[in-house]
Amino acid sequence: MGEIRKDYILERYVIFSPKRAKRPRGLERKDNYIETPKEKCPFCPGNEHLTPKSILEIPKGKKWKIRSIPNKFPALKETKFYGEEGKFPFVHYRPHGYHEVLIETPEHDKRLYELSKTQIELYLKALIMRYEDLMKKKEITYVTIFKNEGKGSGASISHAHSQIIASPIFPKVIDEEMKASEKYYEEEKRCPFCDVIKYEKKKRVRIISENKEFVVLSPYAAVLPYESWIIPKRHISQISDLNGNQIRYLSSILKQLLKKYEEVFGYLSYTIVYHSFPESDFWHFHIEIYPRLKIYGGFEYFGLYINEILPEQAAKKLKF
Ligand SMILES: [Zn+2]
Ligand SMILES: [Zn+2]
Repeated sequence: MGEIRKDYILERYVIFSPKRAKRPRGLERKDNYIETPKEKCPFCPGNEHLTPKSILEIPKGKKWKIRSIPNKFPALKETKFYGEEGKFPFVHYRPHGYHEVLIETPEHDKRLYELSKTQIELYLKALIMRYEDLMKKKEITYVTIFKNEGKGSGASISHAHSQIIASPIFPKVIDEEMKASEKYYEEEKRCPFCDVIKYEKKKRVRIISENKEFVVLSPYAAVLPYESWIIPKRHISQISDLNGNQIRYLSSILKQLLKKYEEVFGYLSYTIVYHSFPESDFWHFHIEIYPRLKIYGGFEYFGLYINEILPEQAAKKLKF
C-alpha cells in the first residue's frame, strides 16, 4: 500500500508508490561512468597549468593532497555588487560570488569512498577552511557545498571533486528549512533534528547505521529512492563546528556509506549536499545524499514528489 508522507518539518509531501518500482526502466541508470583521460585531466598533479591558480593547497607545492581552485567556468564571480537592480518584471543582480572546485585527491581514478580515512578527514578539513573563509566575504549570505558524482548527477570530470558556491542570494531550500526549524524551536524549545534522532532511534526502521558521533538514516519522507542523511548526534549547526573527533567519525561513516551504495548499486551517480547554517540552537547540521537512480518526471516540477522506495526498505538494503 502506498502512503503520502510529510517531511519532518517542511511543508513538503512525498507520495510513496512501491508498485511503480516495477515499471519497465523504473529505477535503473547504467550509464553513470564518465571518463576523463588522465593526460588531459585538469585535476591531476602535473596539469595544474590547465586550471586557475589555487586558493588552497595542502600541503603547498607539487606534492599537494588537496587543492581548491576557482572554477574555470564559474556561475558567480567576484564583482561589485549593487543589490537588487531593475524593476518589475525584470529584476536582476550582478553575478557576484565565488565558485570553487575542491579536488579531493591527487589520484585520478580514486572515488571518494576509496580514499583513506585520513584523506577524507583532510578533505573535510579543507571544506571547513574554504567555508569559513568564504563566509567572511563581503555581500555573501550563504556558502553552499555540494558534490556531484557520475554522469547522472551532472558531473563533467571524473576526477573526484566537490564544489563550493558562495552567493549573495540566500538559497530557498535553506530558507524554508530555517523557518520551519525555527518555528518548531519556538513551540517546543528544542531543536527539531535532535528530536528526529530521538524518535528515529526509538523506531529503528529507518536507521542505516550509526557510530559514536553520527546517525545515518533514510528520512521518513525521502524525496528520492535510497536517499540518506548523515546527522551528528550532538547539536552543531554548521560544518565548521565539527571538532577533530567528529571529523574522524564523519570521515569513517561517510566512507562506509558510499562504499555500501557502491556494493548495492555498482557505479552510482549521486549528489551530496552539506546543510549548514551559522550557529543557532534550532539548526542542526546534516548531510543529504541523493542517489540518481531516476530522472525527475513532470510532477516534481510542482514541488510534489513520487518515491517508489519506502525509506524503511532503503534502510534495510543499505544497513551496515
Ligand atoms: Zn585526474
Ligand atoms: Zn539539534
